[in-house]
Amino acid sequence: MDSIKNIYKTGRGPSSSHTMAPQNAATIFKSKYPDAAMYSVELYGSLALTGRGHLTDKVILETLGSDKTKIIFNYDEVFKYHPNAMKFKAYNEDGTRISKWLVFSVGGGELKEMNEPRDESLEEIYFESNMEEILECCRDDNISLVEYIDKYENLNEYLNYIWTVMQTTILKGLETSGVLPGKLQVRRKAKEFYEQYKTKKLKEIYSYAAALAVSEENASGGIVVTAPTCGASGVVPAVLAYAKEIDGAKDEAIINALKVAGLIGLLAKNNASISGAEVGCQGEVGVACSMAAAAYAYLIGGTNEQIEYAAEIALEHHLGLTCDPVNGEVQIPCIERNAIATSKAITAAKYAMLTDGSHYISLDHVIQTMKETGLDLSSKYKETSKGGLALRDK
Ligand code: SF4
Repeated sequence: MDSIKNIYKTGRGPSSSHTMAPQNAATIFKSKYPDAAMYSVELYGSLALTGRGHLTDKVILETLGSDKTKIIFNYDEVFKYHPNAMKFKAYNEDGTRISKWLVFSVGGGELKEMNEPRDESLEEIYFESNMEEILECCRDDNISLVEYIDKYENLNEYLNYIWTVMQTTILKGLETSGVLPGKLQVRRKAKEFYEQYKTKKLKEIYSYAAALAVSEENASGGIVVTAPTCGASGVVPAVLAYAKEIDGAKDEAIINALKVAGLIGLLAKNNASISGAEVGCQGEVGVACSMAAAAYAYLIGGTNEQIEYAAEIALEHHLGLTCDPVNGEVQIPCIERNAIATSKAITAAKYAMLTDGSHYISLDHVIQTMKETGLDLSSKYKETSKGGLALRDK
């Protein structure tokens, strides 16, 4: 498995697969052919169907130059390798083609080419590839999950930066009111929720407010951290902020909790998918909730087995969750879904702490089930806005 750093990337919302990765791909292509007279970019599958709502066309035009770039939305063709495909072409002044590049946005902001194996990473950091192997390794060496991660990579400085960005995004979101960009005219609620938390002193309102703050920042194109994606970026920071505000967790412990959460995200990414276009929202908010549950279980003193159980519970109870954003915008149901997932994560962790950590369905099993369920889901429910809640207005 690759580095936990690849789970946490900073960038502009609203979508890691539809905004961050296309922007990175356009930047790479432009750096290779900076003198091209014209560019064209064909978007396929989910990138074509929900690209406008996710601002895919906007970031590509901004990167390549709107005066010399044509975007083609190909709604009918879908590649088997992954539904989020982009074909970049560069042309000379006389219209002759200089080059073309087919590239896929496979989730969490990551790019892959057609011949790249999906289940292999260029940068192998972790020898173990599933939770069972990791837990066995920890038992053999009598170490915690954090000590296991520390053995492989030094993440303290990087995660300190990530936690700073997460807190900045929360603060910005809590201070901002108004209406989010887009056709739906969704009103921002984080600030109101935060006011209610301060007056009513109900602790769960704090996690809702923090998740809303991040998700609303994401929907407005603000800076967020993928955890594991932009659409699901509210859950992990909100649960960590809750631990700090309500339980008095120290920043040092939160950095370690981010390591544990990152490990869960890595397992889901490498053994299934964190792409809503591939497996639905179970791979985005489901995985985010699982990461947050593991982090919170760590912070409240969970053993390795209790942490694994918390992560398993949180993901298991998101199995089959569809991705059907209204108008293709990462707002409804996404923003509220992030807030609700914070409660589920905290509950899953507290539930696991009432046990000795032994249970029937393992995290590895539920990750495998998520992958199979996602592949079985109709494409209507995988970030195409062709079914489910997305049809509410039709
Ligand atoms: S429904 Fe879930 S997977 Fe789909 S765009 Fe919203 S957050 Fe992402």
